[in-house]
Amino acid sequence: MTSINWQQRAKETDLGVRNFINGNYVDCQGDQTIVKQSPRDGSLLYEFLAGDDSEINLAVSCSREAFNDGRWSRQSVHQRKSVLYKLMALIEMHKEEFALYDCLDVGKPISNVLNDDIPTALLFLKSYIEGADKLLSPSASDGGSFAYQLRKPVGVVGAIIGWNFPLFMAIMKMAPALLMGNSVVLKPSEFSPLSACRLAALALEAGVPPGVFNVVNGVGATVGKQLAHHPDVDLLSFTGSSVTGKQMMLASGQSNMKRLMLECGGKSPYIVFDDCPHDLDYIASNIVYRAFHNQGEWCVAGTRLLIQESIKKRLLPKVLEQAEALKPQDPLDPVSTFGALIHEAHMNKVLGYIDSGKQQGAKLVLGGQRVNVNISDSTGQGYYVEPTIFDRVNAQQKIAQEEIFGPVLSVLTFKDEAEAISLANNSCYGLAAYAATENLGRAQRLSQGLNCGFLAIVGASKPTGGYVLEIAQNPHRQSGFGSEMGMSGLASYTATTATHLFT
Ligand code: NAD
Repeated sequence: MTSINWQQRAKETDLGVRNFINGNYVDCQGDQTIVKQSPRDGSLLYEFLAGDDSEINLAVSCSREAFNDGRWSRQSVHQRKSVLYKLMALIEMHKEEFALYDCLDVGKPISNVLNDDIPTALLFLKSYIEGADKLLSPSASDGGSFAYQLRKPVGVVGAIIGWNFPLFMAIMKMAPALLMGNSVVLKPSEFSPLSACRLAALALEAGVPPGVFNVVNGVGATVGKQLAHHPDVDLLSFTGSSVTGKQMMLASGQSNMKRLMLECGGKSPYIVFDDCPHDLDYIASNIVYRAFHNQGEWCVAGTRLLIQESIKKRLLPKVLEQAEALKPQDPLDPVSTFGALIHEAHMNKVLGYIDSGKQQGAKLVLGGQRVNVNISDSTGQGYYVEPTIFDRVNAQQKIAQEEIFGPVLSVLTFKDEAEAISLANNSCYGLAAYAATENLGRAQRLSQGLNCGFLAIVGASKPTGGYVLEIAQNPHRQSGFGSEMGMSGLASYTATTATHLFT
C-alpha cells in the first residue's frame, strides 16, 4: 500500500458526480451549482448541479416499476444473496478507488479508510448476506387452524445519509433493503457523493437489475426533502443529525405516513471507574480512539469523559499524552492517522464550540487551534483542528451537552456509580456509551441504567475481538429509533402479514 502514490492517483481520478437511475449514469440537473472544496487543502475538488424534484420523481417511479414487476423483489432470497456476494467481491476489487473517494471527500486518512472503514463495511455486508435467508417466517398451529407470518419486502425504500462514512453508510442502507427484496433510492450527502454512485454501478455489474438501486445527488433542502415527502416511498431510512431527523418525522406525517428509521446524533459518555487501575495505558488509548477517531466526526464518538475522582490524577495525564501524539497530517499520506474536517463551515462550527468552552469556564488542557498542515503538492490550507481536551467541564455547558462532531473531548468527574449513571444520562441523546470497569455486576447495572443503544465495556484486559455483528443496535432518545445490524436490522426492511388458514 505504501508504494501507491496517492497524490498522483488523486490527480488522475475522475471526480465527476452523476446520478445513477434505472441502470444508467445520468447527469445531475438543477440551476444551482454545488462547489466542493478539498478538506485537505481548501482547493476546488469538483462541482456539480444541486439537483431538483424531477430526478427524485424519476428515480422513485423507476424503483416502483422495478418493485412491482418483480425483477428483483420476486427473485429468491438465495439469488439475491449470490448477487450481493458478487458485489462484495467487486467492492474488494475496487477498494483503492473507494478509499480515494472517501479520503478526498471527507478528509479522513487514506489508511484508515483502507484498513478500517472498508473492511468493516464488508464485514457488515457479509453479515447481512449470511442472515438474509435465516429470517424465517414463524408458524403455529392450534387445533384445526394453522397460522404463519409472511415476511415480505416493504416496497420502495428512500435512504438519506450523512457524510462521515460515505461507502459504509451507503452499504448499511442498500444491503439489507436489497436483500429483503426492496427497491432503493439513495441520496448521499452533498458533501461526500463520490462513493455511492460508483457503488450503484458495481451493484448493476454484480446483477442487481436496472431500476432497483438508484442514486440521486443533491442538497437536503430540495432533493432530500422531495424524497422524504414522496408519496410513493414506503420506508425512509435516514442517517444524519437529530435536527434533520425531526424533519423526517414531519415529512412522513405530512405525506403518506411512511415508515421511518432514524439513526441520528450522539454525545456518548466514556465512564472510567477506579476498579481497573492496572490497565490505564490501554484505557487511555481506547478513550483517545473513541473520542478522536475519524477526527471526532463519528456519531458514536465518546466525547464526554467521566472519570471517578479517585483515579483522575493517574488517568488524565495518560489521555493527554496519547492525544497529544495525534497530529493532523495530509489525509493522502499513508502514515496519517488524523486528517482534516469535512469543510470550512464545519471547522468554524467546531472552533466556535472551543470558544464557548473557554468562555463558559472549562479549562483547555490540550489543543484548541486550527493548524496548518504542509501538503506536498499544494500551497492551499485545509481544515485541520488539533485534538482538543477540556478539563473541569460542567455538565450544563454547551460542550457537555451539544454534539460537536469534531475532535473535542470534555472531561467531568464523579464520586460514585449512581452519580456516573446520572451524569451519563444527562443528555438528550442516547446512542452509545463506553465504560471501563472490572466489576461484572456494575457492568450489568450500567447496561440496565444507561440510555444508550450500544454499550462497550472495557474490562481487565484488552479486547481482542471486533464487532458482534449479529446484535442489532437501537438508538434511544433523540439519537433516533429503528434497528440496524443483525436479524432485526434485516427485518426493519420487511413488512409482515399474519396469515391464518382455517381448515
Ligand atoms: P445532516 O442531518 O445535515 O444531513 C444528513 C442528510 O440529510 C444529508 O444527505 C442531507 O443532504 C440530508 N438533509 C438535510 N436536510 C434535509 C431535509 N430537510 N430533508 C431531507 N434531507 C435532508 O447530517 P450530516 O451533517 O450530514 O451528518 C452528521 C450527523 O449525522 C451527526 O449528527 C451524526 O451524529 C449523524 N450520524 C449518525 C449516525 C448513526 O448511525 N446514528 C451515523 C453517522 C452520522
